[in-house]
Amino acid sequence: MLSDLVIIGGGASGFMGAITAINNGLRSVVILEGTSKVLEKVRISGGGRCNLTNSCWDISNLVNNYPRGEKQLIGLFNRFSTVEAFDWFQRKGLKLKIEKDGRVFPVSDSSEEVIKCLTAVAKKSGVKVFTNSHVKRITTKKEGFVLLVKGNKSFEAKNILICTGGHPSGRRLAISLGHSIVKPVPSLFSLSTSENSLKSCSGVTLDAQIKLIVNKKKYAEKGPILITHKGFSGPAILRLSAFSARNLHANRYQGELRINWLCMGEDEVRSKLDLYKLENGKKFLLNNKPFHNLPRSLWRGLLLSINIDSQLKWADLSKSQKDSIVKCLIMKSYLINSRGPYGDEFVTAGGVSLKEINFKTMESKICKGLFFAGEVLDIDGITGGFNFQHCWTSAWVAGNAMSMK
Ligand SMILES: Cc1cc2nc3c(=O)[nH]c(=O)nc-3n(C[C@H](O)[C@H](O)[C@H](O)COP(=O)(O)OP(=O)(O)OC[C@H]3O[C@@H](n4cnc5c(N)ncnc54)[C@H](O)[C@@H]3O)c2cc1C
Repeated sequence: MLSDLVIIGGGASGFMGAITAINNGLRSVVILEGTSKVLEKVRISGGGRCNLTNSCWDISNLVNNYPRGEKQLIGLFNRFSTVEAFDWFQRKGLKLKIEKDGRVFPVSDSSEEVIKCLTAVAKKSGVKVFTNSHVKRITTKKEGFVLLVKGNKSFEAKNILICTGGHPSGRRLAISLGHSIVKPVPSLFSLSTSENSLKSCSGVTLDAQIKLIVNKKKYAEKGPILITHKGFSGPAILRLSAFSARNLHANRYQGELRINWLCMGEDEVRSKLDLYKLENGKKFLLNNKPFHNLPRSLWRGLLLSINIDSQLKWADLSKSQKDSIVKCLIMKSYLINSRGPYGDEFVTAGGVSLKEINFKTMESKICKGLFFAGEVLDIDGITGGFNFQHCWTSAWVAGNAMSMK
């Protein structure tokens, strides 16, 4: 049977594309999902809570959260952005809440609710979903496509929408239809260091100013960082890893991380140290610190890393020791030697080249009737709901465009 649209991949983009296309007039819409379950990434996302978008409503700020695809997303977000996504889900009956940091979750804190919402709306709209239907090959014919599915089943379609996420098979299908791929590399990961002085501070989180230097290129961030047993993680580190993903990959995940643990300027730190010395001369340095926000374990770890004697009293602190402490507090340098484990979220940077896509419709410039949406494209965001958001957006635009044809 010839369908108006066959979608490859039953993830976030696949469902949004299917629902939008059928509700805008396409008569027969099919989703082919390779595994036995649809929306599995939605299920595990956000630690099982699904951070499905962000309350960053301003498009010029919103696009800053995308290391790749920033330019192309401006036009797309002008049509369907965070406000529209928020509204879309609420209208479909999913109650949402906004957390202090702007992340949007279902009120129930359960990703199952998002799955229930998408599958129920798709079913009600008449979308046909086939699981265990891994698409192996696509061939073009005079008007449309033939899709060969594992087990030797085949489907025919006037249009196809590839929504295969970071899975390599989607990229292979795109290549077979004439597309080029920007090499996929991981994004959103922690950084490892062999620096021993941090071992005792594992689990500490605090705000810091950080600068990562890879191959002489500098990336800067300010925000919460978490000290792990292997190095550094937390929102600011994940953001740095996303923006430097390609460069770090090319440099085998080696670079230099400079941290200002206090987010303070040198003069301010010096005067705080001087004042504290004046008022606390008889106290031991290691056990008494002038900075309330700096965790004790980190203060001790930093002092020990520059060989400050545990018996040293504030009154006996020399000028050179003070200089070393200042340097250590505001420009401590750590050698990054590898990529650490992923955080709660992980995405692929790279994918179908953006040059080959018409961003008014999400249609291929190379193959008529072929559309793309979601992570299969060379678009990715940082943590905070931005990855799902570009999936909803690109799939909504594709679904709309197909129904206008
Ligand atoms: C642990 C984790 C947590 C995350 N949490 C968040 C979060 O809270 N917020 C956020 O914004 N982002 C989050 N992300 C990122 C987000 O999940 C992805 O960006 C998003 O799922 C991509 O959606 P997609 O529809 O493009 O692809 P996917 O969700 O990956 O869906 C693609 C589907 O295509 C299927 N498929 C692949 N190849 C074929 C084929 N040849 N034939 C048939 N089917 C095929 C796959 O089985 C899959 O079901 C998280 C990612 C991970 C790994």
